[in-house]
Amino acid sequence: MPVRKGKVIPSEIIPEVGSQMVNVEGKDYMVANDAMYTFYQRSLGEFTPYFLAIRDEKRIVGCKCTKCGLVRVPPFLTHCPDCDFAPTQLIEVGQVGVMNSTPPITYFANSLFADMAPFGRGRLVPYGADTAMSINIFTTTGILVPGIVTKGSEMKIVFREDRIGVASDIFCVPASELTAEQVAKKGLQESEINWEGATEPRLPAASREQVEAAKKVADQIAGVIDQMNRNKRAKADIAGWRRDIQVRTTGGEFAILINDGDIRVRQQKLSSPDFVMVLHDANVLLAGLSYRGALTDSVIGGKIWLSKNGEFTTIFKLDRMARSLARSGKTASGD
Ligand SMILES: [Zn+2]
Repeated sequence: MPVRKGKVIPSEIIPEVGSQMVNVEGKDYMVANDAMYTFYQRSLGEFTPYFLAIRDEKRIVGCKCTKCGLVRVPPFLTHCPDCDFAPTQLIEVGQVGVMNSTPPITYFANSLFADMAPFGRGRLVPYGADTAMSINIFTTTGILVPGIVTKGSEMKIVFREDRIGVASDIFCVPASELTAEQVAKKGLQESEINWEGATEPRLPAASREQVEAAKKVADQIAGVIDQMNRNKRAKADIAGWRRDIQVRTTGGEFAILINDGDIRVRQQKLSSPDFVMVLHDANVLLAGLSYRGALTDSVIGGKIWLSKNGEFTTIFKLDRMARSLARSGKTASGD
């Protein structure tokens, strides 16, 4: 799971101090980078008990109308508008529930949430409640793609380790991915879940022709990656990034090694890759690296499987490298 950063505004979105010239209708003007921050405090009002119960007790509370018995979660009403404003009372609801709609998935989040992407944004009706609550959705089965969680999926609420009184203190995963004990446990924490145990999709046994074909495509991929490694712009796209990726395709496997501005293909099986990429057809990877269709689209479309959800970021970087190489006219200098 991605870890949340400690600042409200991440340092990477703050521009450098400085200025640049712009030319408007033949005249030069200086433009300076400046900053204007607004910090403020807001009351969580009626939601206070809800966030406190999550933060301090790992419980989910709603409010129950003393007259009609309707249970609303979060408990945003102290009086029921359907019952002549009869008072409501706080009540604990279950930590397992059902999605009341199929959640959309955010792949390209703004910088505040980029660390968490991809994530689903869903509406969960916990058992014991009559209304739905907004909650983020993750999976332990690798990359989150459409179809894993749909309307009617049974989900388990999971609590983050460091809870600070915000909506993202909790998220949910499909109950079917957990053990019966985990599903039954109240206050299940993120650290109690195995995020490394994704089951790889199985590739069919390859014929000799397929092995030969895969070898050719792997050579072409190595060729494109070699070009990237001699291209300044493409190298800049992976500055500071380090990943050992095992790529498995029908007919063969190889490794892509990213190491702070350096990218290489190795014909080898890694003992402990950072993540595994599985694709039936190596041509999908070749096309993406050659800037013929985005790899991120292939991931979202299920043509490329990733063993870790958070590694969508790495795929995004590979797409950027492909674009950088294409825009440089495939020259070695990248200028
Ligand atoms: Zn009522």
